[in-house]
Amino acid sequence: MTTSPCGQPIQPIPEVDLALITGSANWGLRFPEDTGLPGVRVLSRDVSHETAYGVSENWKLLEFDGSMTPDGLPRRALCMYSHGNPRDWIDHSCHRRAFAVLQAAGVRRVLASSTIGSLNRAIRVGDFVINADIIELTQTPYSLLPGRQRFDCSGKQIVCPACAEILAETARRHWPASARVHGVDSGLVAAHAYGPRLTTPAEVIAYRNLGADIINHSIAPEATLAREIGACFVPCAFVTAGFNDYFRPAGMSILQEGVLEGLSPIASRVALEAAARLPLGTECLCQSLKSGQPDDRYSRF
Ligand SMILES: [Zn+2]
Repeated sequence: MTTSPCGQPIQPIPEVDLALITGSANWGLRFPEDTGLPGVRVLSRDVSHETAYGVSENWKLLEFDGSMTPDGLPRRALCMYSHGNPRDWIDHSCHRRAFAVLQAAGVRRVLASSTIGSLNRAIRVGDFVINADIIELTQTPYSLLPGRQRFDCSGKQIVCPACAEILAETARRHWPASARVHGVDSGLVAAHAYGPRLTTPAEVIAYRNLGADIINHSIAPEATLAREIGACFVPCAFVTAGFNDYFRPAGMSILQEGVLEGLSPIASRVALEAAARLPLGTECLCQSLKSGQPDDRYSRF
């Protein structure tokens, strides 16, 4: 049996239409095992898959039973801990390998979980946010598109409204009444900056002046690569750092105590329940927002 650098079996990529990308919103939890949510089964874990860009590690294959899905039939999903992968060093190109796996699997819907910082005083610590748009100043350096002239990818509707509606409805059933759920119709904007260093006070001011309401350390590659593989994308995120927290004295933590621990089990449940209910099939405008260019743009040069 072939194994990955960390000793996991390298297995064929399964055919599935759904993916969950996990991250800081699920830190400290075995996802989904620790949610104890009935109807979710882990079919396999600690599996690696081969891609044209190298081996992608730490995959799980989940199954939702018919009580959770739109058509009452079992539904499988690929699941990977994206911004903690690989485990022992920082490698932002892991996103490209992860989405190469999702592309080969035939994934059409991607839900990605993360925590975020607020760049807007009206968005408070503990709030759940489904942003509508993103700002990424350098564009994703880890594109999956086969050649510069083969495809165009639109930047419009980068977050899927149909998936966002289902996620917001799910979140409103579970989120604590002490915080708010901001749906995609609020039109909030997420700036992206690669982590793990947290945002500096100057960057907070800069991104806020560019029109961003929140800052996220993983959303640009996730949203852009979802577009590149022709999948709908929806972010599932909550605020752990408030706007004013970035300007507190250096010795005081930006991240407020207890917020992550209190909300990550709820956010994890919301992510699972919503993912299982995301639309089936290929009927969404998002999936037509990647379009082929004329052949001669590639062949004549
Ligand atoms: Zn869509």
